[in-house]
Amino acid sequence: MLRRIKIDWADLPNFHPLETPFPAPERIYPGLEEITPESFPDFLNEIGLVGMGGSGFPASEKLRAGIGAHTLVINGVECEPGITIDQTVLLHHALWVQAGANASAKAIGAKRVILAVKDHPAQMVPLQKLYPDYDIVPFPDRYPTGAEKLILKKLTGNMPAPGIRPYQLGYIVQNVVSLRAIGRAMIDGFPVVERPLTLAAPASRFYKNTIVPIGLSVREILAAFDLLYDPARQLIVGGGLMMGCEMALDDLIEKTTTSLLLLDRAPLKKKERNCIRCGACNTACPLDLHPYSLVERIQKGKTHSTAFQAQMTECFLCGVCSAVCPSDIPLVQTLTEGKKCLP
Ligand code: SF4
Ligand code: SF4
Repeated sequence: MLRRIKIDWADLPNFHPLETPFPAPERIYPGLEEITPESFPDFLNEIGLVGMGGSGFPASEKLRAGIGAHTLVINGVECEPGITIDQTVLLHHALWVQAGANASAKAIGAKRVILAVKDHPAQMVPLQKLYPDYDIVPFPDRYPTGAEKLILKKLTGNMPAPGIRPYQLGYIVQNVVSLRAIGRAMIDGFPVVERPLTLAAPASRFYKNTIVPIGLSVREILAAFDLLYDPARQLIVGGGLMMGCEMALDDLIEKTTTSLLLLDRAPLKKKERNCIRCGACNTACPLDLHPYSLVERIQKGKTHSTAFQAQMTECFLCGVCSAVCPSDIPLVQTLTEGKKCLP
């Protein structure tokens, strides 16, 4: 059984846009009627869109590959514990999200749009009112349900085979914030110069969703919210607790920065012990991989076999194996190194 990973932070916060000194748009982008499969990928390049759910994958390439897919899936099942920016955008920026989703669906020729969301019963009625034309499918609020493969597993009834991309099954999966960016460009003429993100300092019970200009430094954001940072005691994590990485004060917000967390260092320092062969990491892996075997192979340099490379390609570094390990072995750190061994 996958152990539930839950952080007891406040639930949906208020939405507080950070004032941004954007210049007026230089041009207005095309309306829905002007969108064609040929022109839309160029439009995505023009506005500078990459996967804003954290992947950073060029959006135009994904869309081009998805032409002919029967279903567009709006991915609002954000994975990372405590991050609520996708849910907040869905509830507060429905106009932009729908504009982006309708344009994408038209460009690929999709007949159906599915809105994949976390199973929060209180949000179902507002979402049904905001998105009456889409099929809303609830997913368990459990990390890492929002991974593309796991979304497709639920929608198709089968785990996609290794190496299979969503478009090969007739689906294209787009993150909520990416679709919002498309809608923002179409309606307001803004290219991708801002991003919504979750900003949280759990120890001081600070928790907000906000919109920040891309390129702003971490220092500027913390200052805007009067958040004090003590590097000896605290750690700044960008992109989420499970898959994110440490950031410094002068690091800049990127299009893929889904969140900024200010965490106390002390609880994160755990002493690694020997593997007790309990198998919890195997059981917990959502892709049925064998994390400790992979780690042993990486540590011994045995990374050339086809079986190793197939498993390592599938691993999306979700960190669940590390989180459940009773010996506090940082499996995902070694797996991240293992990715570099792939051809
Ligand atoms: S990091 Fe990789 S091996 Fe570990 S649980 Fe996630 S997918 Fe499985
Ligand atoms: S969960 Fe940790 S202790 Fe258990 S088998 Fe995996 S690596 Fe070893």
